[in-house]
Amino acid sequence: MDFELSHEQQMIYEYGGNLLKQFGRDYWLECAEKREFPSLMYQQVAKDGFVGIMVPEADGGAGLGILEMVLLQEGLADKGIPLQSLVVGATMSLGPIGAHGTAEQKQKYLATGCAGDIRFCFAITEPDAGTNTIRLSTMLKEDGKGGYKLNGRKTFITDAGDADYMLVVARNEHLSEVKRKTDGFTIVIVDTKAKGIEMHPIDLSIPLPERQYQIFYDDVEVAATDVLGEVGKGFDILFESLNPERLILAAMCCGMGRYAMDRAVEYANDRVVFDRPIGAYQALQHPLAKSKTEIELASLMTRKGAWLFDNGRPCGEEANMAKFGASTAACNAIDASLQCFGGNGFTKEYGIFDLYPFARLLKIAPLNNEMVLNNIAERGMGLPRSY
Ligand SMILES: Cc1cc2nc3c(=O)[nH]c(=O)nc-3n(C[C@H](O)[C@H](O)[C@H](O)COP(=O)(O)OP(=O)(O)OC[C@H]3O[C@@H](n4cnc5c(N)ncnc54)[C@H](O)[C@@H]3O)c2cc1C
Repeated sequence: MDFELSHEQQMIYEYGGNLLKQFGRDYWLECAEKREFPSLMYQQVAKDGFVGIMVPEADGGAGLGILEMVLLQEGLADKGIPLQSLVVGATMSLGPIGAHGTAEQKQKYLATGCAGDIRFCFAITEPDAGTNTIRLSTMLKEDGKGGYKLNGRKTFITDAGDADYMLVVARNEHLSEVKRKTDGFTIVIVDTKAKGIEMHPIDLSIPLPERQYQIFYDDVEVAATDVLGEVGKGFDILFESLNPERLILAAMCCGMGRYAMDRAVEYANDRVVFDRPIGAYQALQHPLAKSKTEIELASLMTRKGAWLFDNGRPCGEEANMAKFGASTAACNAIDASLQCFGGNGFTKEYGIFDLYPFARLLKIAPLNNEMVLNNIAERGMGLPRSY
C-alpha cells in the first residue's frame, strides 16, 4: 500500500496555492458576490492544462485520472476556491466525451474544451422527477429526417447561461415502454444557443460565481451526430460519471473544511479573551480536532475511491462514503470554525459564514445524503430497499 503522492500529483495538489498568488481569493469572492463566472481564473486553469486533466493526451488533455482531478479540486478548495466548473464541465462533460465520444465529437469539443475556449454544463435535474432520475420526462424523439427533437425542461443547471454546450440527459422511450427502468435514456450534446431553448436564471441565496438556470426545450433540433454513445444506453454513461462526480465534490468539501479550519486555528491562536488565546479552551479545541479528524478520514476515502476508479475497479460504495463523510465533515468544520470567530465569523471581512451555504448544499446535491445512505445500506450491506 502506498500513500505517497508522486511528484506530479503533489504539484497538482499545490496548484491552488500558485493560483491564489496570481488572483487572490478576493477575485473569486467578488465574482461570487456579483454572480459572475470567474472567467480569468478559469482561463488560467485551462491555460495551465488543468481543465483537461482527465481528457486523453491524444485529444488535447493531460491523460490523467480522477485522482489527479480530486487532488486539483482539493488543493483549490483548501485555499477557499471551490471551482464548480471543474465539476460540471471538466469532470461531468469532457470526461464522458473523452470516454464515449465519436472521433468527430472528440475533435470538435475536446481540444477547445481543454483550452477553456468553450465550456459545458450538465443537465439532468428536472422539477417533477427530483432525486428520482428514472422519472425524467424530457423526451428525445426521432424527427423522421434522421435527427431528433428534444422537448421538456430542466432545473438548477449550473452555468447554463454562459456555457457553450450542454450534455442533456433525456428519455428516448417513456418509462412505461421500457423493460428495465434504466433503459431508454440518451445523452445528447446540445448547443446552448440552439433554437427552441429558453433559459431563466434561478436566484439562489448561496454566494457562488456560477449561476443556476431553469431550461425549457421546445422542439430543439438534435442531429444524430450529437448523440453521445448509443441511443437508449445513456444511463450506462451517466452511471459511470456519477462516481467521479461524487468524488470530486467530496474533494471540494475536504478542501473547504480545511480552509475553514486553517483560518480558525490562526484566529484561535491569536484572539485573547479572559487572558488566554481562545484556542486554549477545550470547548473550541475539541470540535476543531474532531473536524480535522473527520476531514482527513473523508479525504483518505476520497482518494481511495479515485484510485479504484482509475484502476477500473468498482468504487460506488467508496464514492458514496466519501461524499457523505466529506460533506458532513465540511459542515462540521465550518461550524466549529464559526464558533471560534464569534461575531467576526458572520462578517464579510472574515468570510467564514459565506462558506457554509455551499457546504450545506453539498449534503443535498448532486445526490442527497439520504439517498447516499440508502445506496450504502442496500447495495453495500444487503439491507432491504427503503424507498
Ligand atoms: C447550486 C445548485 C447547483 C446545481 N447544479 C446542477 C447541475 O449543474 N445539473 C443538474 O442536473 N442539477 C443540478 N442541481 C440540482 C441538484 O442536483 C438537485 O437539487 C438535487 O439532486 C436534489 O434534487 P431535488 O432538489 O429535486 O430534491 P428532491 O428530490 O425534491 O428531494 C428533497 C429531499 O427529500 C429527501 N429525499 C428524497 N428522496 C429520498 C429517499 N428516497 N430517501 C430519503 N430521503 C429522500 C432528501 O432529503 C432530499 O434532500 C443543482 C442544485 C443546486 C442548488
